[in-house]
Amino acid sequence: MDGRIHSLESFGTVDGPGTRFVVFVQGCPMRCKYCHNPDTWAMTGGQMMTTDYILEQYHRNEPFYRNGGGLTVTGGEPLMQIDFLIELYGKCKEQGIHTCLDTSGIAFNPDNAAMMEKFDRLMPLVDLVMLDIKHIDPEHHKELCQQPNENILKFCAYLDEKHVDMWIRHVIVPGITDDDKYLYDLGYFIGQFSNLKALDALPYHTMGETKYEKLGIEYPLKGVPAMDKKILIEKKEKILDGIRARRNENH
Ligand code: SF4
Repeated sequence: MDGRIHSLESFGTVDGPGTRFVVFVQGCPMRCKYCHNPDTWAMTGGQMMTTDYILEQYHRNEPFYRNGGGLTVTGGEPLMQIDFLIELYGKCKEQGIHTCLDTSGIAFNPDNAAMMEKFDRLMPLVDLVMLDIKHIDPEHHKELCQQPNENILKFCAYLDEKHVDMWIRHVIVPGITDDDKYLYDLGYFIGQFSNLKALDALPYHTMGETKYEKLGIEYPLKGVPAMDKKILIEKKEKILDGIRARRNENH
């Protein structure tokens, strides 16, 4: 089966544990204001690649991934091509490759039985989900990404039920996602899940801005400064406070 692929990277170090072969898919329905990959938004374009071709590329550098690495699919939004993921990850599992899915969770829809059947088939093939929660508050989420967060939050509970390890990622943007109350609320929400294995608080940076210029799209966060690394540590601590509070309640 073909996937619509934006690009491949042989030596990823920030997309899951160890060194990873990273597949960037083309197409995303979200429009996060801080997105640094607006070139992956369009559901057309990219290059069609078969799962076998992708695995051939993986095996070219296979020894490098033996440090606890594996294969990650990111994007764009991988779950928009769930049939392709089922085939690719199915082959990975046959070949003993660690699989990671880096997603916004936007395609998760518990009211769509056909989609849920696919999710149920996919999950046993995924070793780790890196889930980006963009904002814990529904209204702020819509404002930031032009999509609701209701099903994204339900996706956390679903992953917990399925016993799929989950890393939560949260980009901290000055003045937009750095409010202490919401950071605590985020921690309090994710603190209830036993499959939560790690938290990545990521600093907003402005490196995506030139891509917008090239694409002729106005940059929505013009003038917003990059996140200060020292403040980032304090902000991450707010999320951890929320996690600890929830975990204390549950014990
Ligand atoms: S979900 Fe990811 S790829 Fe899609 S708009 Fe947001 S940051 Fe960009």
